Amino acid sequence: MKVDISGIARHRIGVDGEGVTTLVAFMLCPLRCKYCLNPQTLSMSNPSKSYTPEELYAELKIDSLYFLATGGGVTFGGGEPLLRAPFIAEFRRICGSEWKINLETSLNVSRDLLETAAPCVDSFIIDIKDMNPETYTSYTGGENSRVLENLEYLLHAGRAESCIVKVPLIPGYNTEAAVETSVASLKSMGFTKFDKLKYITEIHGKGKGNL
Ligand code: SF4
Repeated sequence: MKVDISGIARHRIGVDGEGVTTLVAFMLCPLRCKYCLNPQTLSMSNPSKSYTPEELYAELKIDSLYFLATGGGVTFGGGEPLLRAPFIAEFRRICGSEWKINLETSLNVSRDLLETAAPCVDSFIIDIKDMNPETYTSYTGGENSRVLENLEYLLHAGRAESCIVKVPLIPGYNTEAAVETSVASLKSMGFTKFDKLKYITEIHGKGKGNL
């Protein structure tokens, strides 16, 4: 099993999970967010490198002592990491249970992929975009029905405490009032941890976000 990885960033602290983390960015994503932070992951024509789970573990284990000393581990992002759920499950089998595995995900994937990855994941960092379906489609080009179904799955699986839901203010697409409406909706569902942020859109004249 080989997957294409856009980049690996070591020694991250307090950015995408507890302790020291290494971010692994997978290629490809089902969405096309207007202010995508990682547009280089959206097309296979951009540079990437193929790894098996064993090869990735061999590269990441240099930081194992940092992970173990700080309660950190690996954060899978992208792109959409859940598209590579079988790879993540195999990686967990190889690395064992001591490293934390975090996912930065939109949850806009089929249920079977989430079910495959969820038991291997300690923390989900979910970028919800906006709970309003029209706003969501306008910003991402996709629909949020699978997102809502997957949120329900995580709740019913007892994983609400494992989820941090990012609820962004998206300039030109929603408002602060819309952010509060999304947060209220998520609270009523049963989620308790939120990260309200504002997407930055002016860097280098291109869209940049915080995902
Ligand atoms: S911001 Fe994230 S979810 Fe949106 S297109 Fe980029 S990688 Fe995909």
